[in-house]
Amino acid sequence: MRIRMFLVVAALCTAIVALPRAQAGQRRVSLVVTNATVVTMDAAGRILQNGAVAIDGSDIVAVETAAAIGRQFRGSQTIDAGGQIVLPGLINTHTHAPMVLYRGLADDLALMEWLDKYIFPAEAKTVSPAFVRAGTRLAALEMIQSGTTTYTDMYYFEEEIAKETRAAGMRAVLGQTIIQFPVADARTPQEALSRAESFITAFKGDPLITPAVAPHAMYTLDAATLRAARELSTRHGVPTLIHLAETRDEVKTSQDQHRMSPVAYLDSLGFLGPGVLAAHGVWVSEQEIALLKSRGVGVSHNPESNMKLASGTAPVPGYLRADVALGLGTDGAASNNDLDMFEAMRTASLLHKLQTGDPRVVSAREALEMGTIRGARALGMQTQIGSLEAGKRADLIVVSMRGARQTPLYEPMSHLVYVARGDDVRTTIVHGKVLMRDRKMLTIDEGAVLRDARAWADKVRAAVR
Ligand SMILES: [Zn+2]
Repeated sequence: MRIRMFLVVAALCTAIVALPRAQAGQRRVSLVVTNATVVTMDAAGRILQNGAVAIDGSDIVAVETAAAIGRQFRGSQTIDAGGQIVLPGLINTHTHAPMVLYRGLADDLALMEWLDKYIFPAEAKTVSPAFVRAGTRLAALEMIQSGTTTYTDMYYFEEEIAKETRAAGMRAVLGQTIIQFPVADARTPQEALSRAESFITAFKGDPLITPAVAPHAMYTLDAATLRAARELSTRHGVPTLIHLAETRDEVKTSQDQHRMSPVAYLDSLGFLGPGVLAAHGVWVSEQEIALLKSRGVGVSHNPESNMKLASGTAPVPGYLRADVALGLGTDGAASNNDLDMFEAMRTASLLHKLQTGDPRVVSAREALEMGTIRGARALGMQTQIGSLEAGKRADLIVVSMRGARQTPLYEPMSHLVYVARGDDVRTTIVHGKVLMRDRKMLTIDEGAVLRDARAWADKVRAAVR
């Protein structure tokens, strides 16, 4: 009897204690993604087997077990990601988005022939505000469908690219191109610089768009313009994007003209410093890797473009040993030929194993870091994106692991790098907003974008005929 009384009292106490906690403690949030294997990419490398992410507005508010999130939060919207992996959205650190409209236009050519016979003539005759808008819509569609949530761009008419990117709901670092010769949106480098400044002023502080300055390369700009471009981005506190040490030809040009390597030349101009993101960095020495690290320069590795154009193999294991902020990029679709960051991660891992003869280099974890948190570091955005942690922006993707190709599943990171494809992405969320749910596009009219792109292809074909 006494025991029974005790049990009743104990049960009552539990009920009294549990009830207020379940109600008053349960916070209403905008979105809960639950029942997933959550690969956080945080500093501790947490992977939650039955995990969940609570999102409120643009931000992640908690990443815990599904049970813990269920106790603490109630989502206005809930996504049950059972049997799938949730991870930070992928970060493409180098591309030229509108060039998707030149995809497959010309392949298997030497770089200069490819540029002179096809890309430059096509660009001269087709690049316009309407062209970059159509190209950006197609690129955004492809990127959202393949799990990229942030991308880095260097092209022309970046203000048009920015508007389309914002409409699609993606995050991007967009660099207005500065180049010595006349191009579609500027006749002189001075005009390009003033365009870049207006672009920065128009988009600074935008929650999704980070405006940037993109001096094309050391071999397409004189010293005064390189310095002016760097000064412009420093003055506004925005990133500087540049191609660097991509090919042997670039090194030869630099040696012939300046008696220095491309890295040494830019350093002699005082160009290298925090906020600079260098694409490629293929032809660099061990000392130059240390110099890039000490200057706080981020690097974008683009394995597929480097392979397709036979540019060379970047010393990625060296960059990783030196802990350089090394991200991954696809480069433009004309030299890849797609924007699938899963392919970029897999290719990066396989390429460097083959190159070094050491299967231990560029592990699945390192490739995934390059596609997420290291990419965020390369962009100087590691406090905002790149991992699933409370307080960061809610940029995440849900990847299917239910198919024959993903079965069985022992190690999530292994599958994400060695098995997954862009098409396996089911749901893409940026800034807390669902852009694709279960493969259904919510911000882009897929049919219209594809029709428009095919119509532009007719004009591109005519331009290179
Ligand atoms: Zn490029």
